[in-house]
Amino acid sequence: MNSSAPRPAAAAGSRAGMKKELPEHFRSYKHVWVFIEFEQGEIHPVSLELLGEGRKLADQLQVELAGVLLGGCGAALTGAAGICHSYGADVVYVVAHPVLADYRNEPYTRVMTDLVRKFEPEIMLLGATVLGRDLAGSVATTLQTGLTADCTELAIDDERSLAATRPTFGGSLLCTIHTLNFRPQMATVRPRVMPLPVPDTSRTGRIVEYQAELEESDIVTKVIDFLADRNSESAQLAFADVAVAGGLGLRSAENVSLVRDLAQVLGGDWGGSRPLVQKGWIPSDRQIGQTGKTIRPRLYIAAGISGAIQHRVGVEGSDLIVAINTDPNAPIFEFAHLGVVGDATVLLPALTEAFRSRLA
Ligand code: FAD
Repeated sequence: MNSSAPRPAAAAGSRAGMKKELPEHFRSYKHVWVFIEFEQGEIHPVSLELLGEGRKLADQLQVELAGVLLGGCGAALTGAAGICHSYGADVVYVVAHPVLADYRNEPYTRVMTDLVRKFEPEIMLLGATVLGRDLAGSVATTLQTGLTADCTELAIDDERSLAATRPTFGGSLLCTIHTLNFRPQMATVRPRVMPLPVPDTSRTGRIVEYQAELEESDIVTKVIDFLADRNSESAQLAFADVAVAGGLGLRSAENVSLVRDLAQVLGGDWGGSRPLVQKGWIPSDRQIGQTGKTIRPRLYIAAGISGAIQHRVGVEGSDLIVAINTDPNAPIFEFAHLGVVGDATVLLPALTEAFRSRLA
C-alpha cells in the first residue's frame, strides 16, 4: 500500500448518500475566515498561505475573505491588516487588547468564539502550527463544530460544503471530510502545504475593530517568558529555498555531514527521512515528511531516500526534485524531476566541491 500514491477515499465534488439539509439556523453563516497568527510583531507565513487558499474558496462561494488578527498593540495590528489585504483579504477583524499581547489559549478562544457567534463565518482556516493546533481544537470544541486537522487539500463541493482532504491510515489513503450539520466548518493546514500567493500591494480592504471584554485577573495562564522557536536554525527548514536531505542510503551518522555540507554551499537547509531520526542520526525537528516538516523549496535534493509515500507527501510541492539513489527502481524516481543512479556518499561530496568552486 505504501508504494502507491495516496488515493482519495471520496472525490471532493460528490458525497452520494450523505446529502443532508443544513439546519435553518446555520444558513446565515457566510464568508471565509483565516485566523492570522501574529506573534512578536510578525505574521506567520502559513497565515498568508491560507489567505491564498481562502481567496479561492471565497471566490468560488462568492463571499468575502476575512483575516482575524488578535494582539496587544492596535498600531501593529493595523499594519499587519494591510499585509492581509495585500494577500487577498477583503476585510480584517482586528481585536487589540493588552490581555491578547501574547498567545494564551483562554483569552484567544474566548475572543474567537465571540467573533464567530457575532459574525457567523461559514469556514474558518488556521495554520497547523503549535499555536494554531492549540487554538483550533478549543475553538471547535467550544463552538461544538467539526474540525479537520492537517488538511492537504481544500475545495468546495457542488453543495457549497467545504471538502477538507487529509491523509489517513498512515498516509496510504486520502479521506475527504465534510462538516454537514455544524458551522463554521473548521480546518487546519500545515505550513508550506499551500503555495504562498504573490502579494498585491495596491490592494486595499476594510478593517473591523472589535472591542473584547477581557480582564487579566480572569486568565489563569501567565506568560513568564517568550522562547522563540520559529527563528531557531532548524525551524527555517520548512521555508528554505534549497533543501538537501539524506536517508538510510547515507549508511552512517557521520555521513549526515555530507548532506549538511552541500546544503551549506548552496545556501540552503538540510534534513532527513524518519529512520534517521529513529536512529538518532538527526534531531526530530529535521525530519521531512508526513510526520515531520512539509517543505516547498525551489530545489530539493534527496540522497539515499527511497521515496516512501510518507516522505513524498512532505516534499512533492518542491519546484525541482533531484534524487540520488543506487536503485534505479526506487519509488523516488517516480516523482523526482531529475534522477541520478549512483552512490550518495560519493556524489554528495563531489557536488559540494563542484558548487564550492563555481560559487567561490
Ligand atoms: P529506505 O526506505 O531504507 O531507503 C533507503 C534508500 O537508499 C533505498 O532506496 C536504497 O536504494 C538507497 N541507497 C542505499 N545505499 C545508497 C547509497 N550509497 N547511495 C544512494 N542511495 C542508496 N518517513 C519519512 O521520511 N518522513 C515521515 O514523516 C514519515 N512518517 C511516517 C509516518 C508513519 C505513520 C509511518 C508508518 C512511516 C513514516 N515514515 C516517514 C517512514 C517511511 O514509511 C519510510 O520507512 C522512510 O521514509 C524510509 O526512509 P529512507 O528512504 O531513508 O530508507
